[in-house]
Amino acid sequence: MSMVDTEKYSLPVRYGTDMRILIVGGGIAGLTLAGLLQQRGFRPTVAERIPEYGNVGYIIVLWPAGSRILKGLGVYEDLLEAGLPFSDYNVWDESGEMLQSYSVLPVTEKYGPMISIYRPELINVLRKAVDPEFIRMDTRVQNMEQTNDEVFVTFSDGSEETYDLVLGCDGVNSETRRQVFGEVQPTFGGMTGWNFWVKSGILEPTQIAEYWGTGKFLGIWPTKGRLSVFTSIRSPEGIPDPIDGRIDRINENFQGFNGIVPEILSHLDDPNEIYHSDYYDLQIDKWYKGRVGLIGDSAHAVLPTAGGGVSMAMESAAVMADELCRADSKYISHALEAHMTRRRSRVDKIQNQSRMMGKFAYANSKAVSSLRNLVLKLFSKKIHFNYWDSMLKEPI
Ligand SMILES: Cc1cc2nc3c(=O)[nH]c(=O)nc-3n(C[C@H](O)[C@H](O)[C@H](O)COP(=O)(O)OP(=O)(O)OC[C@H]3O[C@@H](n4cnc5c(N)ncnc54)[C@H](O)[C@@H]3O)c2cc1C
Repeated sequence: MSMVDTEKYSLPVRYGTDMRILIVGGGIAGLTLAGLLQQRGFRPTVAERIPEYGNVGYIIVLWPAGSRILKGLGVYEDLLEAGLPFSDYNVWDESGEMLQSYSVLPVTEKYGPMISIYRPELINVLRKAVDPEFIRMDTRVQNMEQTNDEVFVTFSDGSEETYDLVLGCDGVNSETRRQVFGEVQPTFGGMTGWNFWVKSGILEPTQIAEYWGTGKFLGIWPTKGRLSVFTSIRSPEGIPDPIDGRIDRINENFQGFNGIVPEILSHLDDPNEIYHSDYYDLQIDKWYKGRVGLIGDSAHAVLPTAGGGVSMAMESAAVMADELCRADSKYISHALEAHMTRRRSRVDKIQNQSRMMGKFAYANSKAVSSLRNLVLKLFSKKIHFNYWDSMLKEPI
C-alpha cells in the first residue's frame, strides 16, 4: 500500500462533513467514533461482521476517563441506568486473609463513578448515539486498495465503495490491520482465563472481591443483578480447553482457595456458559498507513489485568473524532499522525501498567507472592489513590 503524497492529490478537496469515512467494526471504539462523528454532521458507514448484536460478552469496568465520553454522546444517563457503580475494592490471599481493602470514593468523588456493565449493555447504550442507517450488519471488507487519493473497498456482499478514509475498529484480531500491515501477532501475556456468571446475593453489589494466589487470580465483580467471575492462571499459550472437563479444571486450579471462593465455584454448572481465552495485548509502531488507520484494540489492545481496555478504545475514538473535525480529504494523513501523537504516551503507560499489574497479581513463585502479599498489606491508602489518580488525571 502506498503512502499518501499530498502533492499528488488530484481530486476536489472534501472538507469535514463531506468526507467519506468507513469504520470497520461496530464494537466499542467503532460505535463511539460513529456517534461522535454523527454529532458533528459526518455520515460515516460502519461495517460490522456479525448479523445482529447479541448477548455475547462479559463484564467490563468503565473508568471515568471512558464514561465521560458518553456524556458528550448524550447517553450517560443510559449508562447509569444499565451499569452499576462500585465503591469498595477488597483483596484477599488464597487462604482468605485480607491483604487490602479500600474505598474508591476519594477517586470517584474527584473524577466520577467507576461503572461495571455487561458488555452487550454498553453496546446498546452506544447504539443509541448512532443512526442505525449508518450501520451495515453482516458485512466485512473483502478487499481494500488505496491510492494517493482514495481507498477502494469491496465488501463481503460484493458491493464496492470508495472512501477518503478507512478506520479499522475491528478488535485485537483486526482484519483491517492484517490487510494493511500484514500479519502482526498480538503479544501473549502469559495468562489464560475463564469467565462466568453467578447469581447475586453472595456479595454486596458495591463491593469488588479479589483473591490473589500464587500464579492464580479469582475476581468477583458485581453488575446489575449478577456477579461476573474472572478466574485466571499463569499458563503457556494455546493450551486446549475443551468444554468437556472445563468445570473440573477450574475447580482443580482453585481448590484450596478460601473465603467465598468455594461458594462461588459451587455455582458452576454449565460449561457451555463459561467463556475461555488466553490474554493478549498489542503494541505496534504505527497506527496508520496512508488512508487507513486503526483505533482501539486493533491498534493497542490492553491486557485485562488493570481493566482499562474499553476506556482506552473510547478515548482513542474521541481523539480521532476531534482530529477529523479539522481534517480534509487531502491532508488525511496529518489527522492520523496527530491522533497517534496525542494518544501514544497515554496508551503506552496504561499498557505497561497492565503488564506490571499482571506480573504483580500473578506472581508465580511462593516466595514472590508472599512478598507481594506483605507489600499489599503495608500499602497505604494514599498509594492506591495516587495509582488511580495518575491514570485518570491526565488529558486524553
Ligand atoms: C477477559 C477480558 C476482560 C476484560 N475486562 C475489561 C475491563 O474490565 N475493562 C475494560 O475497560 N476493558 C476490558 N477488557 C478489554 C475490552 O474488552 C477491549 O479493550 C474493548 O472491547 C476494545 O474495544 P474495540 O472496539 O477496540 O474492540 P471490540 O470491542 O472487540 O470490537 C470489535 C468489533 O469489530 C467487529 N469485527 C471484528 N472483525 C471484523 C471484521 N473483519 N469486519 C467487520 N467487523 C469486525 C466485532 O464483531 C466487534 O463488534 C477485557 C478484555 C478481556 C479479554
